[in-house]
Amino acid sequence: MRFADVIGQQEVKDVLLAQVRAGRLPHALLLTGDTGYGTLALALALASYVMCPQQGDSDSCGECSECIKTDKLIHPDLHFSFPVIKKSSGTTTSDTYLKEWLTQLTSEKYFDLTDWLRTIGTENKQAIIPDDEADNIIRKLSLSAYEGGWKVMVIWLPEKMNGSAANTLLKMLEEPSPKTLFILCSEHPEQLLDTIVSRTQRIDVPPLSVEDLTKALMERRGLDRDTAVSVARVAGGSWLKALKQICDADDSKAMLQCFIQLMRLAYMRDLPGLMKWSEGMTTLTREQQKAYLSYMQQMLRENFIYNFGRSELNFMTPQEADFAYKFARFINERNIIRFAEEFAHAQRDVAGNVNGKTIFFNLALQTIILLRK
Ligand SMILES: [Zn+2]
Repeated sequence: MRFADVIGQQEVKDVLLAQVRAGRLPHALLLTGDTGYGTLALALALASYVMCPQQGDSDSCGECSECIKTDKLIHPDLHFSFPVIKKSSGTTTSDTYLKEWLTQLTSEKYFDLTDWLRTIGTENKQAIIPDDEADNIIRKLSLSAYEGGWKVMVIWLPEKMNGSAANTLLKMLEEPSPKTLFILCSEHPEQLLDTIVSRTQRIDVPPLSVEDLTKALMERRGLDRDTAVSVARVAGGSWLKALKQICDADDSKAMLQCFIQLMRLAYMRDLPGLMKWSEGMTTLTREQQKAYLSYMQQMLRENFIYNFGRSELNFMTPQEADFAYKFARFINERNIIRFAEEFAHAQRDVAGNVNGKTIFFNLALQTIILLRK
């Protein structure tokens, strides 16, 4: 993958390119932001760039044998570490799922944990970078580079590393080997050990601009300008969210329905209905539950903003706006903060394995109370 293939993010590209050209590339980079903003795509483009012996000022050549190997993801000095589901017996490392990983990356470089878990067919389990992975990383990086150049280790979602793998990573970052580059792509850097963060150079990858998304939707998906702009405006800077809007409009419809249902039932204080709603939520996978909760938080914000009558600040689909027309007045300065807290709390509980029915029923009860404020 070349920088030219990464959507937008010109400023980040410029920073990375300048560092390589000046020979000042740190031994560990921490790219933070949603994978949908392009962290992983940038990591791959940077790996290609440092490994390309014929690199130009702004990109790898794309034609030499190194470039062809990195592009096909078969370069022996390009390594990956990523969250997986632990097998019940034997050792589990990222390599256990390497085939699936390469399939995923070949088909789409913008994806999230839910997509990845779907690819490995285990949606309803917690993904981690297991302990066994620590030795795997050491082993890979202790081999001398096959091609005599750089070794690159891309770690996707390092926040999913548990204690001992994280400690091993920390040791490796403390004693860097020459010509070894770590690229950490983190969506939740606040969950990383401070000691790891402090040994990396952090680069925050911002959401993609509406212009960059629009351009990409027109060029890569053949959308007309008007459609591209409206998709880009509700994508929150994420190519992944833009793609999801085009691909599974059904999913977002389901999320909106779920949100509308919760608000209606809570408004009517329909406890049996809310109990059913909570049960319905527990039939989703845990990753889906998290996705639904963040969608609902976004909807609450949008409805709050709707009251100010500043349409340029609102990012809703026509269906969402339709609901907001009548509903927005219930979300106001007296309850918006508490709403945000309650939904964020539920999201943490989902991640922390608390009983699903309890989480969602509690949330429903809080919604009844908050809607009256
Ligand atoms: Zn090249």
